[in-house]
Amino acid sequence: MIIDHGRLRAFANRIVAAGGSSPDEAAFVADHLVEANLRGHDSHGVGMLVAYVRDFEAGTLKVNQKPEIVSDTGTISVWDARAGYGQVIAHQAVEWAIKAAKQHGVAVNGLRNAHHIGRVGTYGEVAAREGMVALHFVNVASGAPGVAPFRGREGRFLTNPVCIAIPGTSSNEPILLDFATSRVALGKVRVAHNAGKPMLDGALLDHAGQPTTDPSVMYTEPRGVVLPFGEHKGSGLALVCELLAGAIVGSPSVTTNTPPERGIINGMLSIVIDPARLSARDSMMNEIDAMIAWVKSAKPADPELPVLVAGEPERIARAERLANGIYIDNETWSQLSAIAERYQIALDR
Ligand code: NAD
Repeated sequence: MIIDHGRLRAFANRIVAAGGSSPDEAAFVADHLVEANLRGHDSHGVGMLVAYVRDFEAGTLKVNQKPEIVSDTGTISVWDARAGYGQVIAHQAVEWAIKAAKQHGVAVNGLRNAHHIGRVGTYGEVAAREGMVALHFVNVASGAPGVAPFRGREGRFLTNPVCIAIPGTSSNEPILLDFATSRVALGKVRVAHNAGKPMLDGALLDHAGQPTTDPSVMYTEPRGVVLPFGEHKGSGLALVCELLAGAIVGSPSVTTNTPPERGIINGMLSIVIDPARLSARDSMMNEIDAMIAWVKSAKPADPELPVLVAGEPERIARAERLANGIYIDNETWSQLSAIAERYQIALDR
């Protein structure tokens, strides 16, 4: 199924609205998901609606939720999203941090108990567009931890993503580093499983601790695990994401005590910095441009694969998918169609 982003937005909007969301909330969540598809991250695109519908039906995702502002000193705030749509409340929290950083130079927000916040890069993009540097550390607390620590064969984390955004210049788009600390995002295992495709080598162990490329090990009991990226380095980053966004922010952590019926819960620590408080804007922009040019000037190891900087693959994917449509695999489409049928939603109204 290849579908134009506009039709997909309208379809996703109607599915979110079926849970009772206001028109604004439904449009916001649908846009976030379709933008993830457009940027090539199908793991965080409309396929997530299957989990969202499960969670709003179970009451573990609270639609139209308003965050509780737990504390606010002007530069540090803690928000409790109370299981509301993460896309909406994380965006509001990051907007608070951008405004506070513009005023004070730096702002920190701890976000607790958000339902899935989606593609974390979205928040880095918002900050970078405003000329800010942003760092986001996220934990995921929902059911069985599927990611093993380095040297482990049992899950102890989920995919705990990290995002760092550096503002763009007049010649370059922002740098947007945004990835899961697992070798692959769990959603990518779901996408491969749905599409009946193997995973790349070195991403999965089966339940016996043997390396495998079969994504079904994550969907059949006894389950396998996803490995952290970069061995001890990714595993260490996963741990600090867990601690920063969990214990330190006061959001739930993934432990054996995590009730699996809680739905998808993200915590996030966001640090937003006004870089103009650190050095002069013009020289900083020149240095950013020079560094990007220097990195990209490296001869490619494979002439077919140019050297890119973080954020570029997403921009390339977006241009291509805006022009040619978004591919949705059959299994994801049939899951979405089943939901649409239950709620009497047509693809085109
Ligand atoms: P990924 O492995 O595709 O890595 C993406 C990052 O690497 C981006 O910054 C991208 O620009 C950069 N990149 C990719 N190819 C590159 C190249 N050739 N040269 C230079 N840079 C390159 O991402 P992922 O780990 O699969 O994560 C996908 C998405 O899932 C992210 O947006 C992440 O925020 C999201 N996620 C969310 C949650 C959650 O609970 N909300 C959990 C995990 C992941």
